[in-house]
Amino acid sequence: MTDEHVTSDSEEKSFFPDWAKPYSDIDGEIASVYPAKPHFVLLGAGASKAALPHGDRRGQSVPVMLELVDELNLIETIPDDLRELARADFEAAYSRLVERPEYDTQEIDKKITAFFSGLRLPKEPNLYDYLNLGLREKDAIFTFNWDPLLVQSQVRLRNMGVDRLPSLFFLHGNVSVGYCERDDVSGIAGDAGIRGYPCSHCGQPFKPSKLLFPVEHKDYKSDPFIAREWEAAVEILEHCFWFTIFGYSAPKTDVEAVALLKGAWGDIEDRVFEQLEVIERPGREDEDIRNTWDPFIHSHHYDIVHTFFESSIAKHPRRTGEAYWNTYLFGQLTEDNPVPMNCENLESLIAWFEPLLSAELME
Ligand SMILES: [Zn+2]
Repeated sequence: MTDEHVTSDSEEKSFFPDWAKPYSDIDGEIASVYPAKPHFVLLGAGASKAALPHGDRRGQSVPVMLELVDELNLIETIPDDLRELARADFEAAYSRLVERPEYDTQEIDKKITAFFSGLRLPKEPNLYDYLNLGLREKDAIFTFNWDPLLVQSQVRLRNMGVDRLPSLFFLHGNVSVGYCERDDVSGIAGDAGIRGYPCSHCGQPFKPSKLLFPVEHKDYKSDPFIAREWEAAVEILEHCFWFTIFGYSAPKTDVEAVALLKGAWGDIEDRVFEQLEVIERPGREDEDIRNTWDPFIHSHHYDIVHTFFESSIAKHPRRTGEAYWNTYLFGQLTEDNPVPMNCENLESLIAWFEPLLSAELME
């Protein structure tokens, strides 16, 4: 651009695209639907724990890996010399087992798959329903979790007529999702209490995706389904404007995952407009969280909150991009449009989202 363009044109609108307009209240936010960049959400075990504070429909809680060892009596299947290690660090013990050619890990794998397949969302509106409803089709949720709760939520929302939901990706595989290697297509495998459907290309039922165990040297390229999910993660993270990390504390066994994410996020100097948000259980020190994610944070462009309901998605549902523009680029005071916390049933929660959904159809 030449100097002439900058100084002689008094319209002064060139910095902002035509579709971006500041707004002053909640109605303005509901009516604003920009073709904004994706919101990238990363889920760890803490998100499913937060989604089931009183357990699943039958009261079953979501255990962490170490609790699983006792919950599923996995210790019985582990050779004597590794039992002590398995009780202290199951991932490390599993990692050693995989390296023993004489040992078959199938029994452990089967028990874990059966356990997670048995989990069911409670009937009441769940945190995962809020999360799915709070994002748009342009947005994406990437989860490390094996449980089927996020998928069960999307299936029930679709059955109730909401079909503009975020894309889902499964970075360590999932019990409810399958993959057709021939056609490179994934879909619902029909386990975990959800009706499955066949591959749209070949008509064959989906083969359940492999669950990638948290061993020390994860190889994300060895399984075609998981490789594809990671390719999407890298691509979308590169182009997102907002990165929310929910209940994922980047454990030491996940060095490779964090390195891949950092590679896609790139240099923080190139991320001056983007925002990082961490939702972490109450009790964990903010400084500790800040240090964990330091390589991803550009100066003050980050938020740490301790429940989902304090997050950008709960305060500006389906409009996180618009609220971001309004606050940071237009410098407006942006009122929150908080999701209702005590909805009696899913119907009333969906009804609350109707004005947002309708405004999107006008675009
Ligand atoms: Zn197929």
